[in-house]
Amino acid sequence: MHDVHDAPAPRFRHAVVTGGAGFLGSHLCTALVDQGTAVTCVDDYCTGSPDNVAHLADRPGFRLIRADVTEAEAFDVPDPVAAPVDLVLHFASPASPADYLRLPLHTLETGSLGTRNALALARRHGARFLLASTSEAYGDPQQHPQSEAYWGNVNPVGPRSVYDEAKRFGEALTTAEAAAHGTDTGIVRLFNTYGPRMRGYDGRAVPTFIRQALAGEPLTVTGDGRQTRSLAYVDDTVRGILAMAASDLRGPVNIGNPDEITMLDLARKIIDLTGSRSTVRFIERPTDDPAVRCPDITLARGKLQWEPLIGADEGLARTVRWYRAHRAP
Ligand code: NAD
Repeated sequence: MHDVHDAPAPRFRHAVVTGGAGFLGSHLCTALVDQGTAVTCVDDYCTGSPDNVAHLADRPGFRLIRADVTEAEAFDVPDPVAAPVDLVLHFASPASPADYLRLPLHTLETGSLGTRNALALARRHGARFLLASTSEAYGDPQQHPQSEAYWGNVNPVGPRSVYDEAKRFGEALTTAEAAAHGTDTGIVRLFNTYGPRMRGYDGRAVPTFIRQALAGEPLTVTGDGRQTRSLAYVDDTVRGILAMAASDLRGPVNIGNPDEITMLDLARKIIDLTGSRSTVRFIERPTDDPAVRCPDITLARGKLQWEPLIGADEGLARTVRWYRAHRAP
């Protein structure tokens, strides 16, 4: 056990995490509280839940504010964010296709007005600001793997555009903010991340397959299942995000696991890991669903000394254990 006097001072004293009651945000809040940073979590619960941060309720310095970041007063009510903030992690946004297709305008407004308001908070406090952008900024990529220099292939009027373009606009706004006001900003492009606390019905592959396997239902693979994704376990992604926050890099910087897997192989792996008798059922592939997705993480390796450490077998086993304990049908 360390004596408290031996503990190094936290890198940040007070972080505001928008979307902190969601999947990734809740893991970020936990990691920050664990390192001694006071955390104000701002969330409207449109796709998250206070249950995701209930374990932090009694931890010193943690507080939860229900507010919609698209509203300018989000950071003033009900309890003013008064103590100086030195880090703003802007993670609010519906993230799974099922969610952003259900909430198209809210997604666009969160990426635009919400990003503007979160940037203004960082500017007022002289805080470091980090935008959670996405590999979806690359759209259905024509370059593989995707490096940060690739500009992407996004259909601006396709159904996924509400998310992809909101994030691309958020990147442009963040870049302009730094140029116009000198705000200390960074952009991370996160690739698919999975782990405990994803909702079983959020439509993303890992929680869907695990829920179906544990229930003994067929695993619904879209198309012929040959499309690939690169899946990072949440602890690796959180470590990468915090390394980026602690750096002075502007980005964008890709954070993801370059181990690519087809959706069919993922389904089979989850059937094996759960010991399920489920079969695979092929269903229609959504419009504009990217065929491949794989990060080039040369930049993160070189500049942040970061790379993923947890492989798919280990990460999926941990996730299955969590679903068995918390969400077993
Ligand atoms: P999530 O849906 O679990 O979390 C998003 C959170 O934001 C939720 O708690 C939701 O209630 C909150 N939110 C949404 N709009 C809001 C608003 N206007 N005001 C306040 N709160 C709002 O999704 P997630 O997977 O945890 O994603 C978090 C962030 O990371 C998102 O910005 C997403 O685009 C980004 N991201 C995630 C992944 C991934 O694989 N999980 C990949 C790329 C990018």
